[in-house]
Amino acid sequence: MTAPAGQSWSPTALMPERLAELRARAAEQTPRFADPARLQRVAARVSAHYEWATAVLGHEAELRRMDSTEVVLLDLAAAAEPDPPVRPRSPRPGEPGYEPTAAELAEIERRRALGAAWAELKKALPVAVQVAYNYSGGLHLATYLSGAHHILLQGDLVAGRIRRSEHQALCQTPSRSKQMIFHPGPESSQGPPNCKACIETAYKITDLAPAEVLLNNTRHPARRLASALSGAGDGR
Ligand SMILES: [Zn+2]
Repeated sequence: MTAPAGQSWSPTALMPERLAELRARAAEQTPRFADPARLQRVAARVSAHYEWATAVLGHEAELRRMDSTEVVLLDLAAAAEPDPPVRPRSPRPGEPGYEPTAAELAEIERRRALGAAWAELKKALPVAVQVAYNYSGGLHLATYLSGAHHILLQGDLVAGRIRRSEHQALCQTPSRSKQMIFHPGPESSQGPPNCKACIETAYKITDLAPAEVLLNNTRHPARRLASALSGAGDGR
């Protein structure tokens, strides 16, 4: 039996009255000479369920310090409770009752703010856009570490001095246009962009105040998490 997390847990489900009754029976049954088979059973029980034995005895279950009545008591209690309660383990992330750490809460909040900032920016742009990963460069496919998620235009854009064609990234200039290979993927897999040049250009086109959380979304998630866990923050 596993007790729900957060509730007080006892190594034995035997009630105090039941234990008192077993104790009285043990006192009556205590033999003049130790029974080796019983000693062996009790030793195995104590070894497997030390917390249980300690709870039943009311003190540390040290075999060498037990008198013969206590040995009988443990034997009777083991027969009365063959399967003692299992100590509940702490819930894991995603399980009911799990309490996120401060770093995890900060990361949840960062992602929420990031999603909101990107939704706002995307809505304010004059042309429909999607986020696409730049696959060019040898390392990208293997490690997914370099490159970035860019803002890819789904129509021609003219905004003041900024001119881009459909299927170009906002950061794309004539000099680097040939180096970029995009694979947009399904809309559902597209998180916010993390190409700083794309994000800055997008904010220039709109009259929105740049959101720090989106501008700072440039570091690799693993590095960001390590930085959050070490308490260094994500401010750069
Ligand atoms: Zn870009």
